[in-house]
Order: sequence, then structure tokens, then C-alpha cells
Amino acid sequence: MTESTTRTRETQPIDPGATLGVLGGGQLGRMFALAAARIGYRVHVFSPESEGPATVVADCHTVADYDDLDAVAQFARSVDVVTLEFENVSVAATDAANQFAPVRPAGRVLHTTQDRLREKRFLVSAGIACTPFAEVASAEQLSAAIETIGTPAVLKTTAWGYDGKGQAKIAAPDQADDAWATLDRQQAICEGWVDYDQELSVLVARSTTGEIAFYGPIANFHENHILDLSVCPWPQLDFVADEACKIARTIAEQLDAVGLLCVEFFLTTDGRLLVNEIAPRPHNSGHLTIDACPTSQFEQQVRAICGLPLGATKPSTPAAMANLLGQLWIPAPPPWAAVLADPKIRLHLYGKSEARTDRKMGHLTVLADSPEEAIHQAQLARKRLASQECRSTST
Ligand code: AMP
Repeated sequence: MTESTTRTRETQPIDPGATLGVLGGGQLGRMFALAAARIGYRVHVFSPESEGPATVVADCHTVADYDDLDAVAQFARSVDVVTLEFENVSVAATDAANQFAPVRPAGRVLHTTQDRLREKRFLVSAGIACTPFAEVASAEQLSAAIETIGTPAVLKTTAWGYDGKGQAKIAAPDQADDAWATLDRQQAICEGWVDYDQELSVLVARSTTGEIAFYGPIANFHENHILDLSVCPWPQLDFVADEACKIARTIAEQLDAVGLLCVEFFLTTDGRLLVNEIAPRPHNSGHLTIDACPTSQFEQQVRAICGLPLGATKPSTPAAMANLLGQLWIPAPPPWAAVLADPKIRLHLYGKSEARTDRKMGHLTVLADSPEEAIHQAQLARKRLASQECRSTST
């Protein structure tokens, strides 16, 4: 590729009608494909699974492993731009794709964010406050980490962690070794346990032109380390909104990321914002943007990677999102009529055939006059889906 073709490729808008390639076939890819199709794009999904939430709604599907570089290259040849809904793709794979189509966000962004240690070091180098941490690759480093960070602390494997997986809490120093053993002594970071008032996230979209747009802050509530409920706006966070967006902007710009990123924060009990994690893709906490905002996080990802103007982000009304996990399907699928009859509720199901405990199967969003009412209605709706009474009347 010549220098001038590279330059043209980086700045040329990709108009509707083009084909967008997505690495990953899960629910984020599904909602991306639906948003892309609405504005006239075709979507080609690349994933190792022969069937999945995204593949059934996409125009084309390549079934291959992310390490099959020939298959990745072939896939990239057939699309105009490559994006992702799954960040654990190797740099070799993104390099293979990038020979034929721009990868947005670029492989170097994934390289930083897919490893907790690299991500934390990036945050420190960018002058952004994050949870106190230390590297743990040996028993000596573990003792030194506990010495400096103190307890309670949490060990997190540097790679492949999500929804609290690959994590072990250390309540007292004499538990450190056992905690690391539960993680098979894999390379990890030791993080100080944060006393927080609230978890929150900001989604930041950055286009090929450098244009930036934000959603949030969105207030997030977790159960068993898994996102349970998100709500936006959340006026209790107004006083940190500008700072949170400023941090999200710095992250997107310093990473030189094109696409959509989610920055997750803790708001500490003494009023400080600490970055917990960066996800270089749409995020579960942004699902409420589909129903509450003029442009959803998924359409914004399309616009950002295609170099189109970014869309408006302000929610038209307070909204809450509640996740629907696999346990709701056990012993039988929920009685959908119990929520579909209610005009305030928008139901989203990901088309997964197998329900397992803690598996994200869908979500519901409620629009209401106040954030508190939106949360209340979302919780009520989910209860109706779980209620035995509704189950028996619907059968
Ligand atoms: P993570 O996978 O790092 O996002 O962690 C999942 C969840 O565990 C977070 O959303 C928090 O609820 C909790 N958590 C993780 N790290 C910490 C920490 N250092 N202090 C307190 N809670 C934490």
C-alpha cells in the first residue's frame, strides 16, 4: 500500500451501502448489525462459532478461529472497514486484517486494553487516576504488592477477565497465596479494594475526523460482579460529569482510538473518580441508549468508524436498563406477555438458544419521568418475568 493510499483510506468516509466487518458474534455484534442495517450498511461477522446472536442477523458470516490469519485476511478483503465487539483478538490478527481494510479501533488500542497491567500503565502515563495496583508474576511480587497496597485487595488476572471472572479477593495478608493459587498463579495485578459510593461509566465515540461525542455518566449497579442495572441520567453524578467526560476524552485521544469506548469508573466515598477499566467497544451499560437516545451507542460506533458525523446523544427521557440473565429461563422461559403488554417497557432478546446461570440472554429498558421511577419499573418488570404466578397464567 502506498503512503497516499493509506492517507486516503484513513480519511475517506465510508458511505451507506458499504460492508462493515465485525470481529465477534455475540450480542454486541447483533445490536451493531441491526443499527448498521437500519442506515443501509451490510455486515459481515467473523467468529469461531457457527451460530450466535450476531451471525443470524448479519448479511455474511465467516466461521474461523481468530488465529487463522489467512481466514482473517480473506475476511478483511471482503469488507470496507473492520470493527469489533470482542477485544481479545491478537495483534497478529488485527495486523492481518489491516493489510486489506482499516481496523477501528486499531490493534494497538486492543493490545493496551486487553491486558490489565498494560491498561493501568497507560492510565498512569496519561496522568489519569486509577485504582492502586501492583504487578504479580511471582510469589515475591505478591508479598511486595500486599505490603504496598495493603488489604483488603483483589487479585485480577491480567488477561481474559470479565464479569468478576479471573478475580480473587484478599481480605487479610495471610490469604494472599491461597487467592493467587485459585487463579492458577497466572500473571495478575493486585488492586487495592476501593470504597466507593457509585460505579459509573462514560461512553465516548471518536470518529476518523477526531470528532468526539459522549454518553453519560451512566450509573451502574452490579450483583455478584455482573452488571445488573444501569440508569441515566443520574443527578447524583452531575458534579463529576464534566470531569468523567474529560477523562474519557483524554483516554480516547491518547489511545488515538477510532470507534466507541466505554470507560468504567468508581466514585470513591471521598469524592474521587478512579478509572476501573476501559472497554474498546460498545458496552452493556450503554444498552439504554438504544431506546433513550436519538443515536444509540451502536449507531454511533457505525458513524465513528465510517467517518460520518456523530449523532446526538442526550437521552430524551430518564431510562433504566435491567439485564436478563440465564437463571430467569430456569426451569422454563419467562412469560414474555407479562412485559410486552406494557408500553413503557422495551424488550431486547439476544436469540441465544441455551440459557445458563449468569449468561446474558437479553435486557429490558424502561423510559420514565424520573430515574428512580425508571429503576423501579425495570425491577418490577423483571420480577414479573420471574414470577411463578405469571408463568402459570401464561401457559
Ligand atoms: P472488573 O471486572 O474489574 O470490572 O470487576 C467487576 C466488579 O467487581 C466491579 O464492577 C466492581 O463491582 C467489583 N470490583 C472490581 N475491582 C474492585 C476494586 N478494586 N474495589 C472494589 N470493587 C471492585
